[in-house]
Amino acid sequence: MAAATQSHDIKDDLFARLEDRYDEVAELTASLIRLPTVNPPGDAYEPCARLLGDRLAARGFTVEYLRAEGAVGDSDRYPRLNVVARIDGSGPGPCVHFNSHIDVVAPGEGWTVDPFAGEIRDGRVYGRGACDMKGGLAASIIAVESILDHGIDFPGAIEISGTVDEETGGYAGVAWLAERGHFSPPRVDHVIIPEPLYKDAVCLGHRGVWWSEVEVRGRIAHGSMPFLGVSAIRGMGALLAKIEDELYPRLAQRRTRMPVIPDPARQSTLNFNSLHGGLPEQNDVDGFPSALVADRCRLVLDRRYLLEEAEDDVKQEVVDLLEALKAERPDFDYQLRDLWSVPPTMTEPDAPVVRALDRAIEAVLGAPARHVASPGTYDQKHVARIGHLKDCVAYGPGILELAHQPDEYIEIDDMVASAKIMAAAALDLLNEVSP
Ligand SMILES: [Zn+2]
Repeated sequence: MAAATQSHDIKDDLFARLEDRYDEVAELTASLIRLPTVNPPGDAYEPCARLLGDRLAARGFTVEYLRAEGAVGDSDRYPRLNVVARIDGSGPGPCVHFNSHIDVVAPGEGWTVDPFAGEIRDGRVYGRGACDMKGGLAASIIAVESILDHGIDFPGAIEISGTVDEETGGYAGVAWLAERGHFSPPRVDHVIIPEPLYKDAVCLGHRGVWWSEVEVRGRIAHGSMPFLGVSAIRGMGALLAKIEDELYPRLAQRRTRMPVIPDPARQSTLNFNSLHGGLPEQNDVDGFPSALVADRCRLVLDRRYLLEEAEDDVKQEVVDLLEALKAERPDFDYQLRDLWSVPPTMTEPDAPVVRALDRAIEAVLGAPARHVASPGTYDQKHVARIGHLKDCVAYGPGILELAHQPDEYIEIDDMVASAKIMAAAALDLLNEVSP
């Protein structure tokens, strides 16, 4: 159609404009990094939300500050402040929403640069959150600002949000907003989350999670006469052996149609998050520990599961092992407690937001887009489950492996390239034009 050639010229212009904003996207990322929005506890959320809101209000956006009062973690000391900015186009149409979390994890050890200085060097911006995901947030902002600067007429609306607490589950952020209709039609139709999953890849979703705690119970006795008690640690040892011999081989055989990266995550996995039995450790205390048979031993399991698996089956598999041990070992006793779970979610590869990003990636990078899925969860779960909005993916610059690492950085070129892709995809979705 005629609009296709026209949109081609518009996009070439837009891309040139975005290249001129190389320094600006770096500066914006650096200024976001300089606000240490470390979570937990949820520091500096308010200044970060205000920085975004002030900038976008000056560009004509309607800005709402939404504090998740009463949500987990919210307090006057650490207000869970989200910001949602919206700009309407020239008429009715769909809404494209860019959602980024503003929180970052603690810097940890091993940095050779100041994690909150926002240092710009050698074509990169360094700092905690550079890659996950203040660089993606900055890229989405300059993408949208370039559309506005260019005076491109578009129907519908564009929204940009900065939300809290993704690193701790997103309950005061995207989940809280989704419960209030911010991630559902008719308000929003397409959602792009600029998480760092490579500039040439569209992330369709993520695996599910089931966290649980197994407590094996024994009977206390004097350590010199263990035969008078029941060792919870020995019981736990039997469970670990069963998991090793029976469960791990089964999990390794389950492959998913989800394109999970890296490849070893394209199956069911199980991690032991922690294990503790007996008295607390006494590393720093002089003297001997007490001579006791351990009457409690606790194991925290982190099971990642697939689209093809049901959570009930995932649990039942562990219950079956525990029940088998109960039958084999007369003194074996246990309690299993659910800690947290999230079902897997995946947007289909032919969904509108995926197709628009595919086209934009090919146009900008000259190579077909890859489709991937994330080994861990992110806020897409809340958009899908609470917002009931299926047209949602993660797409953003940055290298997944750098997230949460020391000396985290983002390449400025990658931010510019992904900003072009986000801008082109947004225009496609708003206009529903197939180039
Ligand atoms: Zn993230």
